[in-house]
Amino acid sequence: MSDRRAFVAGNWKLHNTVPEALALGRALRNGLLGGGVSAEVAIAPVATALYPVAKALEGSPIKLCAQNVHYEEQGAFTGELSPRLLADVGCTHCIVGHSERRQLFGEKDEGIRRKVEALLERGLVPILCVGETLEEREAGATERIVLGQLDAGLSGLEPATLGTLIVAYEPVWAIGTGRTASPADAQDVHAAIRTRLGETKGRALADGLRILYGGSVKPSNAAELMGQPDIDGALVGGASLSAETFLPIVQAAR
Ligand code: PEP
Repeated sequence: MSDRRAFVAGNWKLHNTVPEALALGRALRNGLLGGGVSAEVAIAPVATALYPVAKALEGSPIKLCAQNVHYEEQGAFTGELSPRLLADVGCTHCIVGHSERRQLFGEKDEGIRRKVEALLERGLVPILCVGETLEEREAGATERIVLGQLDAGLSGLEPATLGTLIVAYEPVWAIGTGRTASPADAQDVHAAIRTRLGETKGRALADGLRILYGGSVKPSNAAELMGQPDIDGALVGGASLSAETFLPIVQAAR
């Protein structure tokens, strides 16, 4: 049994106006008031809702997470947000390299690595997403792809700077599809990620670092997935959009 504290994050993607985000944030805060939850919890609203949600969650243990960031601090980068600006509105975490960003917005490993580095320099926690497509899985390339993304996303980064890092294994074919990796298959990939981190960044870092599973996590499968030895929590998309489905997932974390 590891002493890694479970971490459950809700990725709201492109959903919720400010009033809707506030209502959901308050419902989650109230739902966690009774205590008895051991997991650390974060939510990732759209950028326009970050500041109001931060204000509404003041004093609550729920962490605020951005969905994306640019690696430059400031300058002529129209439309972008920097780690400095995310910290300014109360974010403590940021998703990096989500498969939707890789697939729909052309994000590449080197830009993702720079985002991880920039977030760490600003004291924000990167949640680095890695995962294979269905074609890659069927071709037997899962570990090569996932570990390749992991290596590239952390290339050149000193282990001493990576203490807060979180990795999320998200098989692309399981995101938003209702298909979930079996707990055993997910565990195998998580173990491979931890082993690789041990080889490249050191055993101590690998043993302490949290690796989340993401891909159609819901109340009915959360406990079994998060019960695997190397699955330290969940990155949740669709089921994070209502307190009725997100809170049971949070409560299922050990
Ligand atoms: C995600 O967006 O990271 C995700 C895992 O989505 P879903 O839970 O809807 O599959």
